[in-house]
Amino acid sequence: MINIFFSQEYENHDTGNHPESIERIKVVNNLINDVYSKHNFIEPTIADKKIISFVHDLEYVNSIYDSIPNSGFTYFDPDTIASPNSLKSYLLAVGGSVDAVNYILDNKNKGVFFCAHRPPGHHAESNKAMGFGVFNNVAISAQYAQNSGKFKKILIVDFDVHHGNGTQHIFENNPNIYYASSHQFPFYPGTGSFNEVGVGNIFNCPLPSDCDSSSFKSLFKKNIVDKIDAVFDLIYFSAGFDAHKLDPLASINLEDDDFYWVTKIILEKFANNVPIISVLEGGYDMKGLYHGLNNHLKALVEYSDE
Ligand SMILES: [Zn+2]
Repeated sequence: MINIFFSQEYENHDTGNHPESIERIKVVNNLINDVYSKHNFIEPTIADKKIISFVHDLEYVNSIYDSIPNSGFTYFDPDTIASPNSLKSYLLAVGGSVDAVNYILDNKNKGVFFCAHRPPGHHAESNKAMGFGVFNNVAISAQYAQNSGKFKKILIVDFDVHHGNGTQHIFENNPNIYYASSHQFPFYPGTGSFNEVGVGNIFNCPLPSDCDSSSFKSLFKKNIVDKIDAVFDLIYFSAGFDAHKLDPLASINLEDDDFYWVTKIILEKFANNVPIISVLEGGYDMKGLYHGLNNHLKALVEYSDE
């Protein structure tokens, strides 16, 4: 049994004609209702400014609240758009990611969580909206978990096709939060080279354009799975599905079941009965998103049932 944070509210974060669209969450909701309806659905709560400020500058947080338009769109950058109902989505996405930690701390169950939300957050820097996202959901949740004092070492695995510059920058001096990312490189946002290693806690796995399944698997294993030597008591996935071969935004050619493989190999090596929080990032082809996510969730369900 897995726990799924889910809200209809994400269908109100209107971005106009944009790849990070309302359609994406409809596809995710369809998948969850088609295949995972027997699992535990939870409504996320609204995060407050204090929690968001664990990783974002308060001045920046206030500026986001103040920038939400009464009508039409606000552009934080050419890619990152807010409309009148967007703030609620931002706060629920952070809220669900943090609620998952509270569930684990309350020991309500073994704790495998998927946060079905939008917008993505891994590009959001401590003081800057970027790449469709405003608040860094995974980073806020991981910092909240660390602040609880209940977790010694936390791993974040990001298999979105883009490098999570925001997450890396937020944690690059934190020896107890590891960040591992596979991503097309060179590519947006420009970061993510091998030599960005933080304090020994950053593991980048750049992927060449047109990389296929078998090259992906060998690079991911060599640069992430085999390289990381630590024991973790909480694992996050920044789960993006834009490395799928159908995705229009990038040029990596993963198949549906590669998302099962990448989830499974991380769980097999690093997850010794520890809680898992998976947070939705990108994925802009509707079929690729549906089937990639289905494969990722399948591996999470197997782990939760072990
Ligand atoms: Zn992405």
